[in-house]
Amino acid sequence: MRRKVEGCQVCDPINNLIDYLENNGFKIIKSKLTDYHFHEVYFKLSGENNIIEIPYIKKIKRHSENEFICECHWSIVELDINK
Ligand SMILES: [Zn+2]
Repeated sequence: MRRKVEGCQVCDPINNLIDYLENNGFKIIKSKLTDYHFHEVYFKLSGENNIIEIPYIKKIKRHSENEFICECHWSIVELDINK
């Protein structure tokens, strides 16, 4: 199911990434619309460090160990990993 943040549709790449993370035990702890006009959103997810490798997801770039961005909107997904 397509997610929405404050009435704004979340794009497929971010949606797919969050689906993958949720299937691996991560939970959304924060979400906000950072730019209404550009449909830019921010998500923070919390979970255990049980992801060996994030699979390739079209238009998703891994920016750092726990930060991902989509190339279509520069939306951010940040991970809060419990070590
Ligand atoms: Zn996007």
